[in-house]
Order: sequence, then C-alpha cells, then structure tokens
Amino acid sequence: MQVARDSVVSIHYTLTNAEGEVLDSSSGGEPLAYLHGGGNIVTGLEEALEGKSAGDKLAVAVPAEKAYGTHDASLIQQVPKRAFQGVGEVKAGMRFTAQTEQGPRQVVVTRVAGDMVTVDGNHPLAGQALNFDVQITEVRAATAEELTHGHVHGPGGHHHD
Ligand code: ZN
Repeated sequence: MQVARDSVVSIHYTLTNAEGEVLDSSSGGEPLAYLHGGGNIVTGLEEALEGKSAGDKLAVAVPAEKAYGTHDASLIQQVPKRAFQGVGEVKAGMRFTAQTEQGPRQVVVTRVAGDMVTVDGNHPLAGQALNFDVQITEVRAATAEELTHGHVHGPGGHHHD
C-alpha cells in the first residue's frame, strides 16, 4: 500500500544538517511510526513520503521553511531577571516554558547581563535546511482509535497505560 492520508508509516531515518552532522537517527532502535497527513513530522518530509511504499529509500532535502521554520527575531526577547523567581541562578543554556498569547512556548536563555535575561523562543532547528535519509519499513491503515487520538499506537508510537 502507498503512503496517503491516515496511513501509519514506519520509517528508519537519519537527520543531518547542511554541514553533514548527524542530529538525530533511528539507527539501532525501532523505526519511528507516525500518522501521515496530520502534521506529525516536518512538512517537507511528509510531502516527500506521499505516495511511497514500504521498502522505498529516499534522500530528502528540506528547506527551513518546510522544516522548523525560518528564524524569527521577534521571538528573541529581553526579560527582567525577577521574572525567573524560584529558579535560583539563571544561566545561558537553561530551558523554560514561557506562557505567551499563543500558548506555552519553549524558550532557551541565550544571555544574562546584569538584571536582564535574553531568551530565544525559536525552535533549536529554526532557520536550518535539513537532510533526511529515510527508509520506509511499513505502511498500514490507521485504526479508528489511532485516528481519534491523532497518533500511532504500538511499536514506534504512543504507549498508553
Ligand atoms: Zn492514543
């Protein structure tokens, strides 16, 4: 069967950046299983997998706009240190969940200068073109329950208690 909306697709993948550094890989573990058509993986990879079948191998170059988005300077903000009450010493590299008008967002502290803290709400891979080497190991139809939940159950997917 071919990859289409509401397929459960299992893939082995290796993700590299433009410099060829490996950022993530399923190698040595179980394949990743995802629900196709639901935006559960980056857009550019999902588009490339459409219509493919088990056994297919693909090398997909995904531009930043179809991966984790372009770098957005407006997501870099200066926050007074007092906003981090209860944290102790605030240092560059610390990650927090900030409450924003668009809902919770992961931010990373990039600089601490005096009483001001610079935080960056961009995804760590924003602005980067990514390369995916993918092998499709299985394609099957999603169950009704998986469609209701919006994710895959079982190996490579979600495990409910
Ligand atoms: Zn579920």
